[in-house]
Amino acid sequence: MATTRPGSWIKEPGDYSTAEVEELLAAGMDHAWLQFHQGRDLAAEGGDRIMVKGEGHYIYDIYGKRYIDGLGGLFLMNIGHGRREVADAVAAQLQALAYANTGSYATVPAIRLAERVAEKAPGSLEKVFFCNGGSEAVDIALKMAKQIQYLRGHPKKTKIVARRGSYHGSTYAPMSLTGRAQYKGMFEPLMPQVAHVEHPYCYRCPWGLNGITPEAGGPQPCTQCCMQPVKDFERLIEFEGPETIAAFIGTPIGSGSQIPPDGYWPAIRELCDKHDILLIADEVICGFGRLGTWFGMQRFGIVPDLMTIAKALTGGYLPGGAVVARKEWADLFDASEEHRFQHGVTYGGHPAVMAAGLASLDIIEREGLVENADRVGRHLFERAQALYEHPSVGFVGGGLGLLMSIELVKDRRTREKWSASGKEYGKRLTNRLRQRGLAVRAGDGIALAPPLTIDAATADEIVAIIDDALGEQEREFPTA
Ligand code: PLP
Repeated sequence: MATTRPGSWIKEPGDYSTAEVEELLAAGMDHAWLQFHQGRDLAAEGGDRIMVKGEGHYIYDIYGKRYIDGLGGLFLMNIGHGRREVADAVAAQLQALAYANTGSYATVPAIRLAERVAEKAPGSLEKVFFCNGGSEAVDIALKMAKQIQYLRGHPKKTKIVARRGSYHGSTYAPMSLTGRAQYKGMFEPLMPQVAHVEHPYCYRCPWGLNGITPEAGGPQPCTQCCMQPVKDFERLIEFEGPETIAAFIGTPIGSGSQIPPDGYWPAIRELCDKHDILLIADEVICGFGRLGTWFGMQRFGIVPDLMTIAKALTGGYLPGGAVVARKEWADLFDASEEHRFQHGVTYGGHPAVMAAGLASLDIIEREGLVENADRVGRHLFERAQALYEHPSVGFVGGGLGLLMSIELVKDRRTREKWSASGKEYGKRLTNRLRQRGLAVRAGDGIALAPPLTIDAATADEIVAIIDDALGEQEREFPTA
């Protein structure tokens, strides 16, 4: 079907006829290959719907059903949906200047956004290199780290240390860093010279220490806690040789919202300093207020050497990302003509994307969304403790800002995961949550990252929906 008139495909939710929906689903299955999906998923029973509208912290599907956007799109709609101000900023910039060779010219919005990001970033993280998204930012950070080591006179420092359980993106190098087998198996051989260490994950402590024990009637902190992951890194440095390691990369909190013990990041920072290893903070999810601070590492009082950002950099309105480098490292690249960073992507710093970033930052500041994430995040976490009433709730991860994960288990004693017996459990639970008006991803856990605009009443509603859906789910999938 031709769609030449701008916006001719846009209708109000529920205004699409049954025939149109069927035709769209068929065309979608034939031609639109969704991320991490198979074609048939689009039309599976209660399957992944076609979304047509966003407003505040709600999204609407093509049938007219409204959902709380519990995952903030995919951890990025920090300012919520339907912000006219962002659309206007983008439209104005596109009319003034849609593009100028990003390898030869700067543009005003790119300079201004770099300046604003530098203002918010901790320490001397002052120089911003723009790109298109998170995977690309991680890739660039690796190249930058290797060149920094080269320019510092450490050309043999080439290895990268990442953490098990992490996710850093799905293009080749970030996938090689990602510490989860399911993303990598059939793409071997992966990027060489990557080593993995454990991350702090008390609930599933790799060393079999007592860990977090919710089965004892609410979460009990691990009494052994626990600098084992730091020791793991220390042993790896000894084993590989500090003269071979360029950088360590990690997300401020674990991918299942595991909060590291207080001393973890300072100790990792100290080891990196001691051995001239660069510390890369992957802030793709945590950046721009998600943890109730502008950047996640500000929660832990350390300043990384390089920081990757993406997702909420533009409020989620356009694809964008960046690497933010400490000034002292960025200066190395300016020292002579041969030192320049040989990297560039056509769309890096695209003016329209930069305009979206500026408008989004204005909203976060004006509406105090970082503070709101802190305040409502505490409330959400506190309310979510009641979910331990459900025997399938193994661990409620989070407690910093609006990023949480509720880990679901078949058996609290063994902590067996539902995914051990297939995907049916997750699909059924996702549907149950959707039926009740909460759009999130469920599987071995329920991840929550709603827009930072939500209030306490919406947080309560999220917990009530999960509570109700879990009740029904447990009748179909009883725990041991
Ligand atoms: N790093 C982290 C921590 C992420 O969570 C993601 C994506 O979810 C990425 C990197 C990759 O970002 P993108 O999907 O924009 O390539």
